[in-house]
Amino acid sequence: MLFTDLGLSEPILRAIAEEGYTSPTPIQAKSIPAVLKGGDLLAAAQTGTGKTAGFTLPILQRLITTAKVSSGKRLLRVLILTPTRELAAQVQESVVTYGKHTSLKSTVIFGGVGANPQIKAIASGLDILVATPGRLLDLMSQKCVSLNDIEILVLDEADRMLDMGFLRDIKKILAVLPKKRQNLLFSATFSTEIKALADGLLNSPELIEVARSNSANEAIEQLIHPVDRTNKHPLLSHLIKNNNWKQVLVFTRTKHGANKLVTLLKKDGITSMAIHGNKSQSARTKALADFKAGKLTVLVATDIAARGIDIDQLPHVVNYDLPNVSEDYVHRIGRTGRAGSNGVAVSLVCIDEHQMLKDIEKLIKQKLPQEVITGFEPDPNAVAQPIQLRSQQHQQSRKPRPAGSGGTSPKPASAKRSSPPKRHFSR
Ligand code: AMP
Repeated sequence: MLFTDLGLSEPILRAIAEEGYTSPTPIQAKSIPAVLKGGDLLAAAQTGTGKTAGFTLPILQRLITTAKVSSGKRLLRVLILTPTRELAAQVQESVVTYGKHTSLKSTVIFGGVGANPQIKAIASGLDILVATPGRLLDLMSQKCVSLNDIEILVLDEADRMLDMGFLRDIKKILAVLPKKRQNLLFSATFSTEIKALADGLLNSPELIEVARSNSANEAIEQLIHPVDRTNKHPLLSHLIKNNNWKQVLVFTRTKHGANKLVTLLKKDGITSMAIHGNKSQSARTKALADFKAGKLTVLVATDIAARGIDIDQLPHVVNYDLPNVSEDYVHRIGRTGRAGSNGVAVSLVCIDEHQMLKDIEKLIKQKLPQEVITGFEPDPNAVAQPIQLRSQQHQQSRKPRPAGSGGTSPKPASAKRSSPPKRHFSR
């Protein structure tokens, strides 16, 4: 199938061609015609599937075919809600990229930065607004934004919005939208809560599923390295140096763990920065830009901060700590192996995390291959310590358990692989 078969007009097709896309991804092939038809949509799609263009392209098309102005001013006709600032910024980037040969105007609003430039941008007249729920409600309460003309609502990564406690905010926003509108709901997973939200929001939606929900991306090679918790940091430095990894996204469970790991890696001469909720927006943007530009070897992230990070063809993802919530494993490794390229997702698993690993393997319906690295063999007499499983946000705001958050023990004498790593493919 070609983009030209999908009913998109020339200015949009030109922008797609300039991006170098030759054919639509599976979700795009299904969602573009569905959105153009004007009905509601319920799409199961993870980041990395091309879902953003899947809703952005047909939305742009619908707006240009039915241009509307009121007393010379543009009407705000599309609202796209996302859980995080990073994702909001990336969606807006896509809107600008794909809409660059149209005269449509858009902006993005999120918290953590001054509201005045956002208020000005809205006042100047917009067709599309990309927003995180909190900042949108702020500006609504200040009467700086009117949603009376919204024709299309997108909830992107709806599962994550609920995980982050945005349900009440979403309901407040829904309450002021015009009743007659098109609703598009994208979610990587389908919990009972998401189903309830979809039931209340969507009107006979078209269902689109491109991959089995909760299945890990098949282009990703996954590997477990069993290791003692105190040896995780030396093992990570060893893997990066020995394999000459140049761009590694590392996940820790806590913000404190992320900061601590950055300090330890720096001592080993590995350039790294952390990206998490306690960092200012400008610090996060800089870290991400430096990482994308290849100036940083390692970006250490917590799950919430990493949500929406979009880096093409990221070669390595490391789970320094396994996530509390098994679904996050799928989201994390989805950062690599994107749009058809291969990626490697490595998890450093200590004895405390064996139950989490079992839960993940159950979710993805696959036993993950394990490889012990010589010199980093786990102590057979080690005893598991319980990991307190708290809700993510709560847990991120508290001090982490000491284990797994960046060990300080010396590097083992023999830190070399005895043989080249055996590569295990998941299928
Ligand atoms: P998303 O799932 O929306 O985060 O998109 C994942 C990545 O795939 C983004 O970096 C897009 O630029 C890229 N992408 C989207 N659509 C296509 C396409 N049709 N062909 C190649 N790459 C694409």
